[in-house]
Amino acid sequence: MNSHYDIIIAGGGPAGLTAAKHIVDLGSSCSVLLIEKSNHYSDSVKCGEGVWKKPFEELITPKPEWIRLNITKASFLAPNHSEVIFSDNGKTLGYILDRIRMQEDILADLSKKITVHRGISVRSVIPSDEFQTVKLSTGEIVTASVVIDASGPSSHLGEPNRIPHVNTDVEPALYAIVTGVPQKTDRITLKMSSHFSPGGYVWEFPIDENRVNVGIVFGKGEHRTRSIRQSLEIYIAEYLSEGTIESWHGGAIPSFASSKPMATAGFIQCGDAGSLVNPITRSGISESMYSGKLAAESALEMTRPKANRKKVAKKFEKKLFADYGKKMAKVAKMKRALYGISDEQYNSSADKLALIPEEKRTMLKILKITMFNSPKLLMAMRHLL
Ligand SMILES: Cc1cc2nc3c(=O)[nH]c(=O)nc-3n(C[C@H](O)[C@H](O)[C@H](O)COP(=O)(O)OP(=O)(O)OC[C@H]3O[C@@H](n4cnc5c(N)ncnc54)[C@H](O)[C@@H]3O)c2cc1C
Repeated sequence: MNSHYDIIIAGGGPAGLTAAKHIVDLGSSCSVLLIEKSNHYSDSVKCGEGVWKKPFEELITPKPEWIRLNITKASFLAPNHSEVIFSDNGKTLGYILDRIRMQEDILADLSKKITVHRGISVRSVIPSDEFQTVKLSTGEIVTASVVIDASGPSSHLGEPNRIPHVNTDVEPALYAIVTGVPQKTDRITLKMSSHFSPGGYVWEFPIDENRVNVGIVFGKGEHRTRSIRQSLEIYIAEYLSEGTIESWHGGAIPSFASSKPMATAGFIQCGDAGSLVNPITRSGISESMYSGKLAAESALEMTRPKANRKKVAKKFEKKLFADYGKKMAKVAKMKRALYGISDEQYNSSADKLALIPEEKRTMLKILKITMFNSPKLLMAMRHLL
């Protein structure tokens, strides 16, 4: 390992991999070191693996082997289990990815072009006027002109650079892989229920014809009043009783709650490290990739001779907020109103929507009917205008 790099990337998840790939794709001659804590991604990927097609494909052209399933339908289940299906005339809405395969492939390709170290972690990043000093779990010390922090939801690496760790809206999520349950592999299912998932939702994402990733995200703070594990166990016993639980997984979902410092001269945060998850859908894969790409561009700009690095950092924050944060701040306000929708209101919306033929059921109609059944949500929607 060299003792100095132009750019060091801490973390090789969607954010860090995209940052590294973008630097390479731009043909930069900068020296880059990517450090990934896990030896294999099966140790680090905790995810439903669902992505919407459009934003994902704006960031990367997926290889066929990264896609487990094409999703053409989204099924919304009301608390009373009435179903509303949304589709767009059979068009692909999104994918269930094989994230481990995708990340292993991207990392293997990057290893031919930049320096990659696996199985070690970044312990700290200490700034000075000239560069960032990076301490590794091996005891080694390396320096960099710029560090991109893509180390995920529990990152505290920014603190010496005065980039605080925020946990304003961090929610727990737990899922199980259940086998032996026949799956409709063209759809994802989302269920709202104050009983099973207060403030959040239950998801059922098929993996193949016989296996499902079933999980629950609780709204913030709800885990203090009830057990997420117990809720999921009861849900599985009630709705997937013929299956066998293969494994349990969990993680934290850091949603965008408010804008905060994200970059300083020589240090840039992206992905979950910067709490950039969509507050309502809780999707963070494409979101992390987008911010990783932006971080890569700013890092390259910071490495240029005579660059005003503080100005570049401000420009990064401004662009991130204009492109993404501004909308997410409004979505975060809407989320509070969603908490207030009762099970009865969801049931009544589902009953009304069931009367509209599937081919005429647009996302707008689903939203409108749910809104008009809930004055609180209607009020909150004004934030999106
Ligand atoms: C249960 C669950 C289900 C989810 N389902 C979905 C979904 O279906 N769709 C969706 O879009 N989003 C989903 N998300 C959110 C999504 O997983 C994250 O937003 C996304 O993975 C964030 O990418 P990232 O690269 O920022 O962070 P991560 O994916 O967390 O990657 C960070 C990487 O950094 C490494 N690392 C950590 N610390 C260090 C260190 N100190 N030094 C070096 N390396 C380090 C880790 O090993 C990891 O590989 C889900 C989240 C959870 C918890």
